[in-house]
Parts: sequence; C-alpha cells; structure tokens
Amino acid sequence: MRNTDIVIIGAGPIGIELAAALKQANLEYLHLEAGQIGATMQWWAPGTKYFSSPERIEIAGVPLVVANEEKATRENYLDYLRSVVGTHQLNIETYTRVISIDKDDNGFILHTARSFHGVGGQEELSFNATTLDQLEPIRAKRIVLAIGDMHLPRMLGIPGEDLPHVSHYLGDVHQYANQPVTIVGGKNSAVEAAIRLFRAGAQVTMVHRGEWFDPDRIKYWLYPEIEYLIKKDKIRYIPHANLTAITPTHATLGTGESIESRFVLLLTGYVQKPDLFEQLGVELVGNDRKPKHELKTMQTNVPGVYVAGTGSAGSQSRTKVFIETSHVHVDRILASLQGRISDATAEDYTLEES
Ligand SMILES: Cc1cc2nc3c(=O)[nH]c(=O)nc-3n(C[C@H](O)[C@H](O)[C@H](O)COP(=O)(O)OP(=O)(O)OC[C@H]3O[C@@H](n4cnc5c(N)ncnc54)[C@H](O)[C@@H]3O)c2cc1C
Repeated sequence: MRNTDIVIIGAGPIGIELAAALKQANLEYLHLEAGQIGATMQWWAPGTKYFSSPERIEIAGVPLVVANEEKATRENYLDYLRSVVGTHQLNIETYTRVISIDKDDNGFILHTARSFHGVGGQEELSFNATTLDQLEPIRAKRIVLAIGDMHLPRMLGIPGEDLPHVSHYLGDVHQYANQPVTIVGGKNSAVEAAIRLFRAGAQVTMVHRGEWFDPDRIKYWLYPEIEYLIKKDKIRYIPHANLTAITPTHATLGTGESIESRFVLLLTGYVQKPDLFEQLGVELVGNDRKPKHELKTMQTNVPGVYVAGTGSAGSQSRTKVFIETSHVHVDRILASLQGRISDATAEDYTLEES
C-alpha cells in the first residue's frame, strides 16, 4: 500500500492550481487524474471558446497569452494547462481513476485503476469499472475532490435517445455539413451549436421547452446572432416543445409533429456523479445535490475531506461555480491543510456561465 498525507483527485484547472500551491508549500501529496490533464475540456467540441477572458482563467501565476488578445479556445487552454504543469514541474498520475474510497480511524484508503479517459464525455456513458486493472491502493490522511461536475449528460429518458445519430456532445461540426439536424436545449451550448451548425451548412431546427432564451444567461456575443438567425428563418425555432421520441430518421414532438433529422443533439446539460461523496458519507444537499462544506475551508461534513472547483457545487442547474469563482478555493484549502483559516474572498464580479 502506498502512503501519503494528501491526495488530490482530478487534474482540471482547479486541481492543477491546487497542486501547484501544495508543492510550493512543501506539503506531501499525490495527484490522480482518470484521464489526461484537462480531461473535461478534451470532450468539448473543437474550437469552443471560453466565455471568460484569458486573465480570469489563468492559474498558478502562469500567464495565458492568446493570439490577437482573443478569448482562449479549448485548444489554447489545453496547451496552456500542459505549460502550467511543465512550469511548476507537477507530478500528476494521469489515466489513474479513483474507483472507490474506504474510511477508517487512520484516514482513507483509495482504490484506483488504470483508466483510458477522464470522468465525463461520450466514453463515460459506457464506463465499466470491472473491466479496468486495479492499481496499488493508496492510504491518505486527507483528500481533496476536485472532480468537476459534468460527468454524465442530463438524460431525457425518451425512446431512441441511445440511437447512434443521437448525442449529448457536439463533437466536430464538420460532420453536420448539409444535414438536417435537430438541437434540443435553450442555453449556451445549444445556442452555440445552432449557430456553428448553421454556418457549416446544416439545416438546423431548435427545440426549446421555454418561450425564448434568457438574455442574461446567453453569452453576449451569441445572443444577437441567434436572435437574427431565428427571426430571418435561417434556423427553425420551436418554443414550448418537448421531444417525445427519436427514430432513425425523425425527431417527434409532443404535438405529434415529426422533424426530419439526420442527427439529433440533446444539449440539455450535465450532472455530477456522486459515488465518491456517497461512499465517504459527504452529505449532498438541495436539488443540485451539492456536497455540504464549510465555505471558509472547503472542508466537507466529513473531517479530512475537501472539495474544490466545480466539484464543490453538485449538478449545477444554474452555474455559479466555475474557474473564475473557484481560484479562491485553492487558498482556502491550503490554509486549512496548514491549520490556518484563509481570509481570501471570491472575485466580486464574474460573468455567469450556463
Ligand atoms: C462548453 C463549455 C464552456 C465553458 N466555458 C467556461 C468558461 O469560459 N469559464 C469557466 O470558468 N468555465 C467554463 N466552463 C466550465 C469549465 O469546464 C469548468 O469551469 C472547469 O472545467 C472546472 O474546472 P475543475 O478543475 O473544477 O473541474 P474539471 O475541469 O471538470 O476537472 C475535473 C477532473 O477530475 C477528473 N476526475 C473526476 N472523477 C475522478 C476520479 N474518480 N478519479 C480521477 N479523476 C477524476 C476528471 O477526469 C476531470 O479531469 C465551460 C464548460 C463547457 C462545457
């Protein structure tokens, strides 16, 4: 059995930022990641842009420089994360998934396995722990779950949702060129997909259960564009609509209307997998099933168990916790691990994501 003081689970931006802080403070830790670093960004569609300005998503004191002072793309940011890890010489055990955690009087025992992708994305839908090779267990006194919150899609639970032309992930836009595509959803990911697909030559139908988009929750550069494309009938928009079934050729609405669809994109958000929290006895509160924790320390109701980044927020129905608002977690956790209380406060002004 391997032994350490602290284990960080997850090497997204906040897990990496925390690792750099622990290393700088000379604390003993191991850092485990189920996939490659930044695995969540890996499953975003190529070319997806951050809504946050580069300086707000910089971590661990390393500048994020983007050509022409633009917002960073997924590709820019993955390159950047590699450079942060290199700059700080961080030792991250990638492709190592924490499968389960036991708790006893001496702390925690983490059971891990060699894995092939991060927790999230298309591959997570068919994840099966029993097919993985177990690795040596790790004993730790304290653990930080920086595991993110977008592990599985919010399923609609309708017939046909598992057909091969149906996806909860946008993927490469090129595949949709000149095809009839139905997109379900009314937040940023659905709006962004509709605009990009229109530009790629797809015939786009948007199905939204609401009347219209909430302008406060749509990226400000997307809103006028989607409004224009719908008003000019370049994108067909169906409000107050629910998809009830999908066949290999059509998407059916509650009204009985069938829309011809070569592809169907269900962009209705993602949820967090709560298994590790449940095994540890962390209380999950509210509709979002947010892990209960002290804001000043990020320590959960289970002593020695901390949460960082979006992992601290459960399945966010309205996104309040993201990179910009999570930098502060690093200082709070570091201080608590060192027996201090941080006086760091969150940024007073952030742009909401959805
Ligand atoms: C299209 C899109 C655009 C976005 N734009 C922005 C933006 O502009 N600004 C912003 O701040 N946020 C944005 N977000 C949200 C952003 O993805 C998150 O804020 C960010 O990834 C959160 O970082 P994190 O480190 O908390 O978690 P994540 O990046 O999700 O990292 C969690 C990591 O933990 C790993 N993990 C989970 N469970 C285990 C386990 N059991 N064992 C080992 N490893 C595990 C995962 O594989 C993953 O790599 C966007 C999201 C989407 C989908």
